[in-house]
Amino acid sequence: MRTWLWMTAVSVLLTLSAAAQQPANPSSSPVDSQVPASTVQPSLPEVQPPSAVPQPVAAPPSTVPSSAPPATVDQVVDRVVEREHALMEMLKTRTPLVETYLQNLKLDPQVGPAPVQDHYFLGRMDMGETVERRNYLSKNTSFESAKLSDFTRLFKLEYNPMGFAWMIFVDREDFNRQTYNFRYLHREFLGDVRCLVFDVAAKGTGDGRFRGRIWVEDHDYNIVRLNGTYGPHSRNPNFFRRYAYFFHMDSWRLNLVPGYWVPTYIYSEEGDFSYGSKDKRAFKAQTRLWGYDLQNRAASELTEVLVDSTVKDESPTAQDASPLEAQRQWQRQAEDNVLDRLQKAGLVAPAGEVDKVLQTVVDNLIIANNLDLAPSVRTRVMLTSPLETFSVGNTIVVSRGLVDVLPDEASLAMVLSHELAHIVLGHNPASHFTRYAFTDRMLFSDESTYQNMGFRHNQEEEAAADLKASDLLKSSPYAQKLATAGLFLRELAERGPKLSGLLTPRLGNGFTNKKGEVTRMAVLMNLAPALDPNKLDQIAALPLGGRVKLNAWDDHAELIKTTPVAITSARDKMPLEVAPFFPRITRYGTAADWASSRKKAIVGS
Ligand SMILES: [Zn+2]
Repeated sequence: MRTWLWMTAVSVLLTLSAAAQQPANPSSSPVDSQVPASTVQPSLPEVQPPSAVPQPVAAPPSTVPSSAPPATVDQVVDRVVEREHALMEMLKTRTPLVETYLQNLKLDPQVGPAPVQDHYFLGRMDMGETVERRNYLSKNTSFESAKLSDFTRLFKLEYNPMGFAWMIFVDREDFNRQTYNFRYLHREFLGDVRCLVFDVAAKGTGDGRFRGRIWVEDHDYNIVRLNGTYGPHSRNPNFFRRYAYFFHMDSWRLNLVPGYWVPTYIYSEEGDFSYGSKDKRAFKAQTRLWGYDLQNRAASELTEVLVDSTVKDESPTAQDASPLEAQRQWQRQAEDNVLDRLQKAGLVAPAGEVDKVLQTVVDNLIIANNLDLAPSVRTRVMLTSPLETFSVGNTIVVSRGLVDVLPDEASLAMVLSHELAHIVLGHNPASHFTRYAFTDRMLFSDESTYQNMGFRHNQEEEAAADLKASDLLKSSPYAQKLATAGLFLRELAERGPKLSGLLTPRLGNGFTNKKGEVTRMAVLMNLAPALDPNKLDQIAALPLGGRVKLNAWDDHAELIKTTPVAITSARDKMPLEVAPFFPRITRYGTAADWASSRKKAIVGS
C-alpha cells in the first residue's frame, strides 16, 4: 500500500519538477509589426459554422450570428464589433473577482530587473453599465489608500484597479467603425486557433481611446487577445480625469462558454531600463479574473451534492451515531460549511485535479508516520496568489500562488507537513470553527469574508507545528530530499522584505513575519546550501503562474502542462516573479479544452 501510494505521487507529480519552469507556447509566433497592411481587400479564410457543443448548465445563451460569412474586411470588422458588444451585454450581470499583483522593478547588475517592492489587490468587479469595484481587502491595504511612493509620481499614473480592470474591453462606449480605424495585417495562430490580426487606432486625436492590436478568431470573430494601451486625456472628464493614464497591456480571453471568449488574463508592464534612461525603474503586473459564474452555481451544485451523497456516505449505516461519531460529523459539517462559503466567495476552487496532487503528498506523510486521523484529512486549493496555507479542522488549504512557486514535491511536502502537524497536535479543535456548523454564521457578504473568517495560529502553535512537521518529514519518503525545500525558504528570506504583498497571508499563516524574515520551518533553511543565482541548476522558487491554471468561468483549478524549457541564464529563473501570460488557446468543446479534460478526469477517477 505504501509503495503504491508513493508511486502514484511520482507519476502525479512529474509536472511538479523544477524543469517545468516556464509556460511556453511555441505555436504563437511573435508578432511582426513590420508586416505591411494590404491596401486591397484581402481574401478571407473559409468560415466554418460554429461547432455544436453541449451547453453547460450555467452558460449564457450563445448568440452567434447566423448570417452569411463575411466576405470583406469591413464585414469582418462589423462582426467583430457586434461580438464585442454581445460580450459586454453577456457580462453585464457578472461580478468576477479581479486580482492584480504588481512588482516594482529595479535593475540589478547580476540578475537584471528584479522586484524591489510589490502591491496586491483583490476585489470584485460589477461589469454593469458603470464598472464598479468592491474590495475584499480591508481599507488600509486597498488600492485607494496604498502608499505608492515616488514611483507613482514618476510615471504620473495611478495604480487604480480601474486602470487594470478597464483593459478587458477595447472600448466600452464607442467601439465601432465611426470611431476607430481597423487595419488588417495577417492571419496567425494563437495556440490551436487561427486568428485575424488587426491594428486598431482611433480616428482623430484618439484621446482616451484604445491604440494597439487585436486578434480575432476566424469562426465567429470574437476578440481573443488585445495588446496595446489607451490614449491619455479625454472628453469624458468624469472618468478619465481620475484614470488619466493607462498602462501597456496584453489582455487574453478564453473560450470558456459556447460562443464567448471571456477576459481572463491581463499582463501589464511599464518602464525603461535602456541605457541613458534616468530612473531605471519599471513595474510588471498580472491581473487575473475569475468567478464569472459564481452567482449561477447553485443549480449545478445541487446535482453534485445528490451524486456525492450516494457515493460516499461516511456515516455508520443504519445506526445511531455515538457521541464521538456525532462530534466528528459535527466537525466535518462545519468544515464543509466553511469551504462551501469560501468557494461561493470565489476564494477556494471546487474540489478537483490539483487537490489530488496535494492529497497524494499528504497521504504519503500520513502513511509513513502511521497516523490515524478522523475525520480523514483532505486538501483544497485557495484561488489567490499570496503564499499562504491554513486548515479548517482536518481540511488543509494551500494557495494557488504557493503551489505555483514551490520548486518540487519535497517542498510541497514541507508545506503540507506543517498543516498536518497542526491537525495532529490538535491545534484546530472543533471548538474553533464548529460555530460554522450553524449555517446562519455563513450569511455575510463575499467582500467581508476576510473580516469574518480567519484561521491563524499563534506563535507558540506555529513553533510547535514546525517541530512536529520536522518529525513527520523525517519518517517520510521526503526525508533525504529537503535541500530544495530549504532553498525555497532561503529565497523567501532573500526576497521577503521586498515582497510583502505576496508574503502577507489573508486567511491563514504565511512564511514570514512583518519584517519579511522567514519564520516557518526555519530549521530546514539553515540546513540548505547557500543561494546562488548564477548556478543555473539551482532552482529555489519558480515564477508565479507556472503550475496552476484557473478556469475563470467556473473556478476549477488544473495543472498546466508545459514543455520543460532550458534555463540559459540567471535571468531566466525569475523566482517568485510575475511573467507575461501565454495561455493555451483552444476552442470550447475541443479535445484540449477545459471542460473536456475535466470530463475525462471524472470518468477516469
Ligand atoms: Zn501554522
